[in-house]
Amino acid sequence: MGDRVDGEHRKVEDLAKKRPRVLVVDDDQSVRHTLERALEHDGLEPQTVSSGEAALQAFDECPPHLILLDVQMPGMSGFQVCEELRARPNGDEVPVVMMTGMEDSLAIQTAYDSGATDFVTKPIQWLILSHRLRYLLRADTNLHRLRESQERIANAQRLSQVGSWEFDLETGLFNASDMLWEIHGLERTDAASGMKALAETVHPSDRDHLRRSLQSCWQQSSPVRFDHRMCRADGSKRILHCQVQMSFDPDGSPARLEGIAQDLTERKRTEEQVRFLSSHDALTSLGNRRLFRERLDLAIGQAHQGGWKAGVLYLDLDHFKRINETFGHSVGDSLLAEVANRLVMSVRGADLVTRSDRAEEVDSSAISRLGGDEFCILLPRVRDVQSLAAVARRILDALESPFSLAGHEVVVSGSVGITVYPNDGEDPETLLRNADTAMYAAKEQGRNSYQFYAERMNELSLRRLIIEGKLRRALDESQFELYYQPKVNLASGAIEGFEGLLRWHEPELGMVGPDDFIPIAEEMGLITSLGDWVLQAACHQAADWARRGICTVPVAVNLSPEQFRKPGLAARISEIVRQAGIPPESLDLEITEGVVLHDADKVIQELEAIRALGMRVALDDFGTGYSSLSYLRRLPVDTLKIDRAFIKDIENEPEDAALAQGIIALGRALGLRSVAEGVETEAQRARLAAWNCDQMQGYLFSRPLPVPELEELWQHRHSNERSREPSG
Ligand code: C2E
Ligand code: MG
Ligand code: MG
Repeated sequence: MGDRVDGEHRKVEDLAKKRPRVLVVDDDQSVRHTLERALEHDGLEPQTVSSGEAALQAFDECPPHLILLDVQMPGMSGFQVCEELRARPNGDEVPVVMMTGMEDSLAIQTAYDSGATDFVTKPIQWLILSHRLRYLLRADTNLHRLRESQERIANAQRLSQVGSWEFDLETGLFNASDMLWEIHGLERTDAASGMKALAETVHPSDRDHLRRSLQSCWQQSSPVRFDHRMCRADGSKRILHCQVQMSFDPDGSPARLEGIAQDLTERKRTEEQVRFLSSHDALTSLGNRRLFRERLDLAIGQAHQGGWKAGVLYLDLDHFKRINETFGHSVGDSLLAEVANRLVMSVRGADLVTRSDRAEEVDSSAISRLGGDEFCILLPRVRDVQSLAAVARRILDALESPFSLAGHEVVVSGSVGITVYPNDGEDPETLLRNADTAMYAAKEQGRNSYQFYAERMNELSLRRLIIEGKLRRALDESQFELYYQPKVNLASGAIEGFEGLLRWHEPELGMVGPDDFIPIAEEMGLITSLGDWVLQAACHQAADWARRGICTVPVAVNLSPEQFRKPGLAARISEIVRQAGIPPESLDLEITEGVVLHDADKVIQELEAIRALGMRVALDDFGTGYSSLSYLRRLPVDTLKIDRAFIKDIENEPEDAALAQGIIALGRALGLRSVAEGVETEAQRARLAAWNCDQMQGYLFSRPLPVPELEELWQHRHSNERSREPSG
């Protein structure tokens, strides 16, 4: 199309600037000669040929601006030449003036029928012909200009995907541009049926709107703009933007409706895409923080008006950092994407919290990834706050089965914090912040759990911040101390070991318990140096006791799972033991099931190395974790410590009793010793003794004690024992 316009343009320039070229076709040489001279004289450029065939050839080589064509020639007649010319592409544009010898009406009619523009009779009167030629050439230039500007308009319409139309109010004639037909996916058709065909492509639901817009333009003579959808014959859907206005006759009476229609489909699609990208997370395709806040804002507005509640669930994966570090970031990324999938699946059925007839209210767009391993779920309409707990549980359950990612089986759990509008906040910020706080509380509760927000939590998180701040200086300022708690043989009552338990004397807070600061130290990455300090303190204490000949039983130290993450733990412990100058058998180590949650193989290797050095390993808090029995078989440990939660109620709860007894039996079957933690009553002790539990630890015998008190206890026990020994 562009070529054609260029061609037209050139032609107009030729006509305006250069001498117009005139092709003279006549078998009579004298006519050719006369015309050639006359044309030249008039400033035109003549080209002469003597036959119809030569004329066609000359035209094909370089089309002239005008042709003077003799009717009667040997071979092709002028009529035939004219017909053939008109059949050529571009052949209908050049003016052809027929030269006839006779002035009969049949010849003139035939001339026009074959496509001639005008005719002159021979003998030619040059003056008249000269004026006619000038007139024809000028008309031709204007025609070309008009064509050129039409082409340009069509081209501009094509580039901007704009079609135009007009409807004549007086004649009822409708005319539309090529582009308009193209946009509508229709072939150009005649006026009446064409308009109907165009109207039929309008989406049925938008027809009323379109009709009203046109009416308003008509009745109020004011321009209108509107968008509507369109279904094309090929089934594709498009979006059109239309503008319509009225145009008037010079006397002010309405003449036409004129309109343009622009195809906005692509632009809308791009806008949609940009909007999607700016509001969604590329990794999981879930919404991002921005979208979530918008959705939450909307839900708050609706809940406020409707007088109902809305819920926010804030999920954070437990120990996600470790997964990234152990398996690499690409596995971490796949895990996040998989978690997103499971979230969508598990929340999709959450109609129980919304009105069941509008289950779509919890659609996947209500789930967002806020960043990292944090996800948020919006439940816009909550009937019963407790049902939020059900959704939280379902989410946690959905994470339960292992993820298999790039050949790895990855186990992950999450912690969920829950806030409810309006109880826990009236704006998105507060609801999100408090849900985050509740999520942290869930983590502190032992992870893989959910927590509703409570105002108290903010005090707790403030305390947590304070502890964080103080913890950094505590080691340097020697604020830690180890207390020791005896482990006693259940049958004989003899002290067989001590467990070192960390205490923190903080000048302002007083004594802070390990449950309050060890998880924080773990998260802050302080636990490795703190753990080393505990190992050194315990080993030096054991060395001191050995030198002084008191408390000559092994000392146990608790190891945090975090301490296994830095490679070479066994070597580090061995070095500490060596420096203290005690035999390795004097040190016991206690681990929890948490150590095997990630990269069990590495942990098992490290534990085997520790045992090979001669130290014994106990599995602490047994029964509270979630490792399977098959892990227990693989774990190289010597002792099971039954968590005090099972011991507490063995007198009253038959199930707890059965469990404790079962654990002892299981340990025995696997060749492990058993230690009961938290024994507080004589009745508990008696039962455990009856079940053949090996050792106990608990307030019944002694609380954890600072060193001087412990030495006193030891000496007291031993002098008693000695006094009980038969003399002689
Ligand atoms: P754990 O290793 O299971 O330690 C036993 C906990 O039970 C101690 O709490 C002890 O004071 C408590 N306990 C002992 N007998 C009784 C009883 O008869 N009744 C009751 N109700 N409780 C009893 P503690 O000292 O607060 O330590 C809590 C946890 O902190 C320990 O649990 C251990 O997991 C951790 N922890 C303590 N010291 C260290 C340490 O040096 N390093 C590491 N990584 N963790 C430590
Ligand atoms: Mg312990
Ligand atoms: Mg324990």
